[in-house]
Amino acid sequence: MERAFLTPEQAAVVEAAETVMDRLRPRHREYLRTIFEEQRFPEEVWEEMARAGLLAAMIPEEYGGSGLGLTAMALVMEVFSRYALSNTLVLLTTMDAMAILNGGTEAQKRRWLPPIAAGRIKLAFAITEPDAGTNTFRIRTVARRVDGGYRLNGQKAWITGVDVADGILVVARTVPYADVVAQGLPRQYGLSLFLVDRTAPGLRYQAMETVGIEGFRQFQLFFDDVEVEEDRRIGPEHEGVRLLFEALNPERIIGAAIGVGMTGYCLDKAVAYAKERRVFGDTPTGAYQAVQHPLARIRILQEAAWMLTLRAAEGFDRRLDPRTVGAWANMAKYLAAETAFEAIDRAIQTHGGSGFVKDYYLVQMLAPVRLLKTAPVNNEMILNYVAENVLGLPRSY
Ligand SMILES: Cc1cc2nc3c(=O)[nH]c(=O)nc-3n(C[C@H](O)[C@H](O)[C@H](O)COP(=O)(O)OP(=O)(O)OC[C@H]3O[C@@H](n4cnc5c(N)ncnc54)[C@H](O)[C@@H]3O)c2cc1C
Repeated sequence: MERAFLTPEQAAVVEAAETVMDRLRPRHREYLRTIFEEQRFPEEVWEEMARAGLLAAMIPEEYGGSGLGLTAMALVMEVFSRYALSNTLVLLTTMDAMAILNGGTEAQKRRWLPPIAAGRIKLAFAITEPDAGTNTFRIRTVARRVDGGYRLNGQKAWITGVDVADGILVVARTVPYADVVAQGLPRQYGLSLFLVDRTAPGLRYQAMETVGIEGFRQFQLFFDDVEVEEDRRIGPEHEGVRLLFEALNPERIIGAAIGVGMTGYCLDKAVAYAKERRVFGDTPTGAYQAVQHPLARIRILQEAAWMLTLRAAEGFDRRLDPRTVGAWANMAKYLAAETAFEAIDRAIQTHGGSGFVKDYYLVQMLAPVRLLKTAPVNNEMILNYVAENVLGLPRSY
């Protein structure tokens, strides 16, 4: 994306990310094969990002990070997504790190944040259950107090990257939902966060038959009396929801940056193809307005999404009112997801039949691009947010 308006510090972040990409470029097609054919994310990409310090932006210097903030993280994610190397596990690990940073004890911060910043630890995030997706308050996984900690029982679904993660930040009920309702407590009360080892006894995981996103698979988790020590609870008991809410804006902003980058991937490929492909005489198809106008329109929407994304990220870094940032973050995520989906559709159309040839790595992008409209939050919930919080309309659900 255009760099003219970036501060020197931000431009340096983009340059660092592009330097890593330049190093990875000779093996780019191999990485795409690993992602789309083996359904694995190439470890080397993660390691190179870590070595360049690109995973450390959200973690303060005192805990081994760079403290550059969310704008830096968004800039990095946009660059990698432009090469179809966006990385959901980076997003999830970053969200988990934020929960530790905002709610953890000093000892927890010292234990977990430095290895996360160095890229030595990957974390999954588990809130969704078979019967609790959009409405997260309905989750039923319970954490009962026992001597020295908690015992977890329940089930999660759709959890990304469990097989390669070292740990999972699990949202569980320390007050069962029925008790919350019976006692007339606020529905967000009684949720707590736990950092559970992937290899914890009693925890079983099973791959779901989903179409892989960026090489990461989704899993069902089964908690059967999983013992979790007290010092693995992140944040106050029963009030973990505050930490979740604090992570929502960054999650949407990073999601938006990924969408903007994916749009760039589609546009780059479509434009390159349309400049070369000749169907009638010596005129490249890119000269036809039916081909070029949709691409120009997508470029306009992409720029708008990017400006919103950066405004939201900068607002977050400057600690503006979370509701103000929330409006921009939600709008950015919505526009980025819708634009990316339009972009993959038009990129495939521009390629004609070649759009369906595996070697072009376009048709495989349909699923990860489309996912952005559904997860981490669906676009209907974004519209609900804007309707209620920006327009002041009544809540509908
Ligand atoms: C590939 C993939 C990876 C994922 N990774 C993770 C992960 O790592 N960790 C994790 O915890 N979860 C993960 N999820 C789960 C994801 O966050 C949920 O699927 C998502 O929040 C939607 O929940 P649901 O599937 O239960 O849909 P439902 O809640 O059943 O909703 C279905 C649809 O109904 C509509 N809808 C629902 N409520 C409203 C409303 N109030 N107003 C308007 N429309 C509404 C929306 O269109 C929504 O898409 C992942 C999902 C996928 C597909």
